[in-house]
Amino acid sequence: MRIYSAKDVDQKALKGATIAILGYGSQGRAHALNLKDSGYDVVVGLRRSGASWKKAQKDGLRVAEPAAAVKGAALVALLTPDLSQPAVYAEIKANLAKGATLLFAHGFNVHFKQIKPRKDLDVVLIAPKGPGDLVRRQYQQGRGVPCLIAVAQNATRRAKQKALAYAHGIGGTRGGVLETTFEEETVTDLFGEQVVLCGGATELVVRGFETLTEAGYKPEAAYYECLHELKLIVDLLHEGGLAKMHQFISETAKYGDLTRGPRIVTRSTKAEMKKILKEIQSGKFARQWIRENKSGKKKYTKLLNKDLKHPIEKVGRALRARMPWLEQGR
Ligand code: NAD
Ligand code: MG
Repeated sequence: MRIYSAKDVDQKALKGATIAILGYGSQGRAHALNLKDSGYDVVVGLRRSGASWKKAQKDGLRVAEPAAAVKGAALVALLTPDLSQPAVYAEIKANLAKGATLLFAHGFNVHFKQIKPRKDLDVVLIAPKGPGDLVRRQYQQGRGVPCLIAVAQNATRRAKQKALAYAHGIGGTRGGVLETTFEEETVTDLFGEQVVLCGGATELVVRGFETLTEAGYKPEAAYYECLHELKLIVDLLHEGGLAKMHQFISETAKYGDLTRGPRIVTRSTKAEMKKILKEIQSGKFARQWIRENKSGKKKYTKLLNKDLKHPIEKVGRALRARMPWLEQGR
């Protein structure tokens, strides 16, 4: 296993290169601004009708339509939403320079063969393990979000060096750049967000909140307990693993954790995790999501609205309004 750092970067790999960033959302904005601050010539590719066009201009970046932006770019980063990328690739394909690098921040479309890149291109992955605003903020603080690196096509035999230079440009080498494959990044990323990070964590929070409020306890108390305080625990885990969390919680909390935790995440929960992993590996999840997207995202929108209407959101908004500092840095 290899983890690369700044000393492994070949400074010549992307020297003087124009980098086209397609999409100016969570990752796109962070990558574009970090690369510009790292001295690269950056152009952002966006639809003229989209909301991000003005934002990118205001941030001092050169903006063009995707097909024009990629002309003459040595590296093109596809940072629009995953399911929009096949159409964006079709739009830019003819204008990509021979031997250019096509970069992804998530392996979905290459791994599930939604995009089959031209054979003369280098195809690489630099996947930051954190949301875009953190990629930007940490870069400005002299820190860096760790990244995963992978190569799917190595047409120029310099693909990895170019990807590593890009990771360095966004600050990733400060945190470490872990070598992986498109398959491993795609599967682990989808599994993480479905089971632990987004799906698992929010379900746990909301069911805990419901249990307390249904028993007659104040929604405010339940909110602090089940949502607000989660950050404290996650920060301890993030900084020092299980040991650091154990060090900072009370003896009583520890006893409760050790004896009750396994009753919440049970053997059947783990069996379900394995099922979800299989659905990701087999492509079943990808096919379902692509279908949902094509048919207008009806189910997705319904579920999303249901989530946003949950009582925990109402009490949360009121309590967070008293703590305006929570929003700072976004
Ligand atoms: P996003 O939804 O935040 O932003 C998408 C951007 O693309 C917007 O600026 C939008 O205006 C633009 N856009 C949408 N359709 C377009 C089109 N057809 N042509 C041109 N521009 C278009 O996206 P994101 O969450 O930053 O995701 C980008 C990539 O990064 C994805 O591959 C995702 O999996 C990956 N990724 C995201 C995160 C994250 O924290 N959000 C973390 C790691 C990797
Ligand atoms: Mg993801």
